Amino acid sequence: MNEHRTSPVRIRPEILAVPGYRQGKTPTRAGFKLSSNENPFPVHPRVAEAVAAVPVNLYGAPAMTDLRARIGNEFGFDEAESQARVHLGAGSVAILYQLVQAVAGPGDEIVYPWPSFEAYPLLSIASGATSVPVPLTEAFEHDLDAMAAAITERTRAVLVCTPNNPTGPIVRLDEFERFMAQVPSDVLVVLDEAYREFVTDAEAVRGETLLSRYENLVVLRTFSKAYGLASLRIGYGVGHPAVWEAARVTGIPLSVTSQAEAAALAALEPETRAVLDTQIETIIERRETLVTSLRALGLHVPEAQGNFVWLPIGAASSDLADAFAEEGTLVRPFAGEGVRISVGEQESIAAVVRIVKDFIEKRPELVSGGSTP
Ligand SMILES: *Cc1c(COP(=O)(O)O)cnc(C)c1O
Repeated sequence: MNEHRTSPVRIRPEILAVPGYRQGKTPTRAGFKLSSNENPFPVHPRVAEAVAAVPVNLYGAPAMTDLRARIGNEFGFDEAESQARVHLGAGSVAILYQLVQAVAGPGDEIVYPWPSFEAYPLLSIASGATSVPVPLTEAFEHDLDAMAAAITERTRAVLVCTPNNPTGPIVRLDEFERFMAQVPSDVLVVLDEAYREFVTDAEAVRGETLLSRYENLVVLRTFSKAYGLASLRIGYGVGHPAVWEAARVTGIPLSVTSQAEAAALAALEPETRAVLDTQIETIIERRETLVTSLRALGLHVPEAQGNFVWLPIGAASSDLADAFAEEGTLVRPFAGEGVRISVGEQESIAAVVRIVKDFIEKRPELVSGGSTP
């Protein structure tokens, strides 16, 4: 429950019903920040220069045509198509809010996998619509058949997160196609590909190959994760022009800053992009090391296709996060479910393995073959 029950103003009951955020332990010494899936590398000097050159007294250009053209180009669009089909937002989470508010209101339903991105339940609440969370499979993957079965005549949007944050597995192309065949063509499907740059599985669904086939599909990407621009707040969506016209109505005007636009344009330059590609490769290598080492401890670690790993340790999750905090390192516990650990600095990898190893030595039941499942 919201702690401020004594609000001087009337608050919507569904907002009051949201549990207050439980702050984790604050680290007492310096360690790693592995709680938000950020890129651990310093920003490229060209990106920093581009940001610094932007005058802060002026509003950004509302249309940001250069950046949309540049992104559209990656999707094979010409200039006009790019302007109509690419939509920018102050982070892709802002676009999620715009979309859900544009399609759903009280009485409507939003279907999404669970556990998944923590914003999904909150944005359904904000729109006034009803959340329909669909449990993941035992492999911590989307249960797309169950999601399709959860669609009713009141469903207005289905959210698909690949790779799934926080658990890690991707959605495969063949299963996604089977799923789309079951979704009514007037229900919005959002393919949230926030971590797509880290995906190495060749069977993974990739939004750009599907947009021409499904007019009710939009693809979301972000500059926050692989591109390392989290604090500048910029993401984009690609899809049908009419969907973006609606999203502009519900969006907060002028919320994408010129700094964010300049940074994104600089980050897409071939020279900066090449540096980024090397960083992404390094993060993927570290991820593989982390997964292998944690599995070697006997832990179950689902397929990790983002820049994070998931330890589904249930009731022990908050305690493990506290053990990390004592070492100065922040990770993200999902109470009763598991702990998500971002792939960070090189030195963080061994530190994570050591902290987890120490933790499970005292709790043999967490290891496969232990006494409790
Ligand atoms: C981080 C994240 C986003 C969006 O991040 P922005 O910073 O708002 O672009 C969207 N979806 C998922 C699944 C994420 O993990």
